[in-house]
Amino acid sequence: MLNSNRLQCRNAFRLFVVGLFLNVGCLFGQEYGLKILSVKDFSYITEDMRNFDSVWYQCMSKYGHEDVSHYFHFPLHKTSSTHPLTSLNFIDGFDAPLSDAFYFKLVKTQRFNDTLHLYHMDMGWMQMAVYFDVKNLKLIPFEQVDPFHLQKCKYKNLTVYYLDRAVDKKQVEKAYADLVKSVTEMGVKAENFTNREFVVYSANSIADSYRLIGSLEFYNYFDAKGITGGMSDPHNNVILSGVRKPIHTHELIHLVVDFKSNRFVGEGLASLYGGIGAEPYQDKLAIAIGYLKKNNIHSFAELFQEKFFYDTEFNTNRVEYALAALMLEKVRQQFGLVKYQAFIRKCKTNDEMIESLMDLFQMKTEEALFEYLYLK
Ligand SMILES: [Zn+2]
Repeated sequence: MLNSNRLQCRNAFRLFVVGLFLNVGCLFGQEYGLKILSVKDFSYITEDMRNFDSVWYQCMSKYGHEDVSHYFHFPLHKTSSTHPLTSLNFIDGFDAPLSDAFYFKLVKTQRFNDTLHLYHMDMGWMQMAVYFDVKNLKLIPFEQVDPFHLQKCKYKNLTVYYLDRAVDKKQVEKAYADLVKSVTEMGVKAENFTNREFVVYSANSIADSYRLIGSLEFYNYFDAKGITGGMSDPHNNVILSGVRKPIHTHELIHLVVDFKSNRFVGEGLASLYGGIGAEPYQDKLAIAIGYLKKNNIHSFAELFQEKFFYDTEFNTNRVEYALAALMLEKVRQQFGLVKYQAFIRKCKTNDEMIESLMDLFQMKTEEALFEYLYLK
């Protein structure tokens, strides 16, 4: 949900993937002359499949580093030429050639007509679908074919596609206006939002939203039990939203904030203005404070321990998000906008955040500060 948060997941995941490759690469190898797809039976292999395999291999080998737009049917909406696939954008961070690290298994091929084929692939942690124009040898991003007949709502610089509901444009206008207000309150220029094109794919759950980008089987690698939530793709300003809201403010805030901060403050800002999942952050506070008490956490140093980061209860309840939003709310209320804006820009690291907080609240120890913020 936050870039740095996702990065950590990705780094861990990358190690996992490379490890996986070392183990399985030699077992499966390149089968029947295919470069990255693997099939059980060579009689499945057609000329079209070979072509797809070859184009997909070339695209994935360059993905993330080089312009790969010529492998696709373009133009796309505001698309990064090195990260053009919406679906793969959400797993970016694989800046090693995917073909070296991956074993793609073909699940199914579907022919729609003489030109359009759909290849279902199992990539281990998720299954995805890619359209391929077999005549012109071009990949087609899933959203361009629009198999779900999404409902489009365009408002100013924001385009929202909804899976299964009609949208009240008035609600979008209101959410948009609130977002502009929040952006300004953070001391970010409104133009940083209003002058850029954003695309949101919106469904009622995170699992549904995955389908919109061609993921056939859902595996939420951030939060195994998460039902609602969102992800943002900073390369293309695309948001996948699995929350029944007019726009996904939380993820938009992540993309609009133009200063660096630690993960805690980054998620705090997104949660303060955009809520957590479908609810305002206040709804998660009782659980978050309960978690602190249950686990004897009396300082930020204790809170930021790795063991909590990997704890399911901690993640599912977004304990950090709620605590961070509350802390920001207190700073804003007690010290006013000018100091609040200066403060959020000082928190580039956890230590800088703690130091600034102790300074602001005039606390002598970190424990006293933590007690004051959360435990009294
Ligand atoms: Zn977030």
